Amino acid sequence: MKEFLQKLIQADTTSDKGELAAAQIIAAELGLSGIDSRIDSWGQTRANIVAHIKSTGQKAPLLFVCHLDVVVPGEAAWSHPPFAAVESDGKIYGRGSADMKGGIATIVTAIRQVVDTGTRLQGDIILLCAAGEETDSCGVRRFMHERSWLSEPAGIIIPEPTDFAVVTAHRGMIWLKVTTKGKTAHSSAPELGVNAISSMRAFLDELDKYKIDVQPHPLWGSYSMSVNTISGGKAMNVVPDQCTVGIDIRTLPGQNHERIINDFKQIFAWLKQQNPTFNAEVSVDRAVEAMETDPQCSFVREFCAAVGANETKAVGFTTDAPHLRPLGAPIVIFGPGKPELCHKPDEYIDVSDVETAVEHYKKIILKFLL
Ligand SMILES: [Zn+2]
Repeated sequence: MKEFLQKLIQADTTSDKGELAAAQIIAAELGLSGIDSRIDSWGQTRANIVAHIKSTGQKAPLLFVCHLDVVVPGEAAWSHPPFAAVESDGKIYGRGSADMKGGIATIVTAIRQVVDTGTRLQGDIILLCAAGEETDSCGVRRFMHERSWLSEPAGIIIPEPTDFAVVTAHRGMIWLKVTTKGKTAHSSAPELGVNAISSMRAFLDELDKYKIDVQPHPLWGSYSMSVNTISGGKAMNVVPDQCTVGIDIRTLPGQNHERIINDFKQIFAWLKQQNPTFNAEVSVDRAVEAMETDPQCSFVREFCAAVGANETKAVGFTTDAPHLRPLGAPIVIFGPGKPELCHKPDEYIDVSDVETAVEHYKKIILKFLL
């Protein structure tokens, strides 16, 4: 299995490269146990892979949902090359080792081991490894669009790295772009133009005072908001006519994204009252709803019993889970790897965690499908 994981890491699936190579590696691995899978590919390099392990059909299926893509390694130096999958000190290093090729390698291995032993299951296993989770969730949205063949699962498991915590809730997010518009002028006579950067400063001052009106949540407390990008201005001697900031807001379950956008528009209106040359617009760059599964539901309780967990947790990061809500099934995030290593240099996964994960996933499959 280690070699399988290493091959998956070596298949660079950052957004430029696409997911097809990794999907082919998974298809070949499943094929070793005679498991058919279907690669759904588009745009030359993008791909989902779906495997459907049929059973007697007396029980509802289990759906496992992974993502094939990884984020870029970034500018910082790595101790081991990010796509070499070097093993050292009981760890395998590489981009995606934790998020989430470790999860993919272990669920595929667990499914293979169940199939190889000839266990007669009473419910189907469906495995989806999807494209684009780190960017626009294109893979899971495509899967959901063509899901007419899929009956309601007993539960959905997302093998993202939780360090074996049973996660039943995550925050949502909305990325907003705010652009202020002005008028260019020669900077020796700035009074003839409208400086878009000055307008942005006025907006950011207001944003500092702004609080979203929302009840604190028992698991997370409050939402978070951070201005993370800014661009504007073309030349040292030209008054800028445009300035754009990117704002990442992490939201709570039930929090209304539309209302935040309306609040922004009200701030614009107020600033325009103060200064008629103020002009701004807001657009949504990306939005993911929050996810919350009832930790007391029977699926979660049985899941916890299967993996020996006494509690469930909530996390700050997002997943493809909200897109799966129309399936009507409880969703649990559970997998090997430390979440704090995700998207960072020197990402790794412990080989011992990989082995433990296979045992957990086998127990889960047998608990619900035997
Ligand atoms: Zn992930």
